[in-house]
Amino acid sequence: NSFEELGLPEPVQRGLLAINFKKPSKVQEKCLPLMLSDPPRNMIAQSQSGTGKTAAFVLTVLSRIDLSKPHQPQALLLAPSRELARQIQTVIQTIGQFCENLIVEAAIPGAISRETGVRGSVVVGTPGTVMDLVRRKQFDVSQLKVLVIDEADNMLDQQGLGDQCVRVKNMLPKNIQILLFSATFPDKVLRFAEKFAPNANQMKL
Ligand code: AMP
Repeated sequence: NSFEELGLPEPVQRGLLAINFKKPSKVQEKCLPLMLSDPPRNMIAQSQSGTGKTAAFVLTVLSRIDLSKPHQPQALLLAPSRELARQIQTVIQTIGQFCENLIVEAAIPGAISRETGVRGSVVVGTPGTVMDLVRRKQFDVSQLKVLVIDEADNMLDQQGLGDQCVRVKNMLPKNIQILLFSATFPDKVLRFAEKFAPNANQMKL
């Protein structure tokens, strides 16, 4: 039950030390070995907010990206609101503070330059803006390795948002690892989630 045993990249372990995360929380302890497995497997994780679920998926993202390609988008995280996207961006930057060349961009309205498009290795956004950027060819999704959906109950349940998530997913590489996190998975959402993230490991805390 330690972060060292998980084989996280050394700069990520330094980031955890710097913010005084001494050992994995329960959701991290249970989910991280599954999410970090090789070959990657999809995950559907249910855990209350406040249990450390953000760091659980952030650590997975930071373990999967290749920092020698800082401008190549490799991980996409979707959230239901701009505020939550910004919060997740901050958590990634904080835990990743020693990851040299790490660029984390927010794909929310007004945040991505029309001239340059997305130029980060990690992208946190809202589904509508992400879809627009991909359609305008301002976001190269061809090398994405991980897709995270936070607040999946919210995201996959609402008519509009759920459709947008599916549309975004359909634009991504077929073998992408999909991680769904939520405080609750009502039956209907769980059935949707199981289709969205096929053959996922499921963890309920
Ligand atoms: P979350 O469930 O993502 O909202 O996280 C709840 C709080 O727990 C946040 O303030 C995190 O900074 C903190 N936290 C997450 N993981 C750990 C950990 N392993 N050790 C100490 N604090 C943590």
